[in-house]
Amino acid sequence: MLSKSTFIRGLQCEKSLYLYKHNYDLKDEAPPQLQAIFNQGTNVGILAQYLFPNGVDASPSSYLKMQESVFKTLEFIKNGEEIIYEATFQFNGVIAALDILVKDSIGWKAYEVKSSTSVSETYIMDAAIQYYTIVNSGIDLKDISIVHINNQYVKDGDIDIPELFTVESVYDKVLEVLPSIPNKITSFKNVIAQKEVPVKDIGAHCNSPYNCDFKGQCWKHIPDYSIFNISRLSTDKKFKLYQNGVLNFDELDIAPLNSNQQIQVISELEQKTFIDKTNIQNFVNNLEYPIYHLDFETMTSAIPIYDRSRPYQQLVFQYSLHIEKEDGEVNHKEYLAEAKPNIDPREDFVTQLIQDCGTFGDVLVYNIGFERGKLNDLIGLYPVYSVEINNIISRLKDLMIPFQKKWYYTPEMKGSYSVKYVLPALVPELSYQNLEIKEGGTASNTFTQMVIGDFKGDVKIMRENLLEYCKMDTFAMVKILEKLRQV
Ligand code: SF4
Repeated sequence: MLSKSTFIRGLQCEKSLYLYKHNYDLKDEAPPQLQAIFNQGTNVGILAQYLFPNGVDASPSSYLKMQESVFKTLEFIKNGEEIIYEATFQFNGVIAALDILVKDSIGWKAYEVKSSTSVSETYIMDAAIQYYTIVNSGIDLKDISIVHINNQYVKDGDIDIPELFTVESVYDKVLEVLPSIPNKITSFKNVIAQKEVPVKDIGAHCNSPYNCDFKGQCWKHIPDYSIFNISRLSTDKKFKLYQNGVLNFDELDIAPLNSNQQIQVISELEQKTFIDKTNIQNFVNNLEYPIYHLDFETMTSAIPIYDRSRPYQQLVFQYSLHIEKEDGEVNHKEYLAEAKPNIDPREDFVTQLIQDCGTFGDVLVYNIGFERGKLNDLIGLYPVYSVEINNIISRLKDLMIPFQKKWYYTPEMKGSYSVKYVLPALVPELSYQNLEIKEGGTASNTFTQMVIGDFKGDVKIMRENLLEYCKMDTFAMVKILEKLRQV
């Protein structure tokens, strides 16, 4: 039996489909962020049901018992139900559950809910396999639509469900691809029936449309650090090199690479550190004291939580600030919002930030576009603070520049200029590894879970962890700058 998701898996890679059916145990462990994405999708699906309220639910008692849903769905239709959630159909060895099936004055219409903000080619194929099973089960489907998030929606009071979602008919596109579906089903069934794993080399398809969860298996022969890690080299070029048998840096002709990529390769081959003292000196000398080392953390959710926020908007909830005086004295300040759905953190955040940042001295961030973007969002939200926020924006400088421009590059940076690589390369005694939270994605998901009440652990301890993590980001900046000064 093929499901909708195994059908989509087969479209991406037949080897992936085979391994999923025969060697499930070889699947990579799911990253923790995946659960957060999955929860988000489930919440969006439930909310979308309110577009068509008072329906009946054909969900099975367990996802291993999808047949139950097929029987329930047929029963509901026979009994004259006109709104069915998780309506499930089976035809030609394919079983597919649809989020919402509705009968109106025109006839039956299908709605598949996605937590993304647009319709992709994959969603068209997803809808096509759905259409195929429904129509061949005897339902005269008049339309099929993807229901996705409208990212222009701004929350104002209770969630306005029709405004939050965009309903986009994909009927014509589905009819275009429909003739290809039966052949694909046959081909995928043949793949599953094979005795041997299909031969398929790695390629761009391993990451598109999804990150394949058998990469741990298929990418075993790729060294931890290879041509696939060359910074800003296009995927096409990487796979061209790979297909020509080039995998390691010492097999590479560096002439076609740009100067930064050449530095990365030479640095690795010769284990050499590149330092452009003139540019570093100019950068350091141009900084004005006191230096405010600043870092923001943001949260995001598909369904906006606070008024005057949009789906997936990144909302500030925390910052850390190390203030460095010319005589070397360093003080620390920080802000971490209350994690409550009825307390929008942004105004408190910005008023404390204005107070903590003073009015003169450079505000040093790592990746200026991020902090500047969030500060501009805050001006739009609170024009009353625009003078003070613009003052902070005018003082922003980017500590990432010396590393992005490769003024300072060591082999340990592995082609990256992210602080997570730069810090261990420059200040090996300082590390994120001993922290409970090691990267921004976890901080963001954790805080969002605390706000919506999904967080299961000890809130007090987790708040400490969040503070420690963000503090490390700006302390790392102090130490990195110290290193640049020494150079
Ligand atoms: S890692 Fe790539 S080649 Fe291997 S199964 Fe996945 S998509 Fe196919």
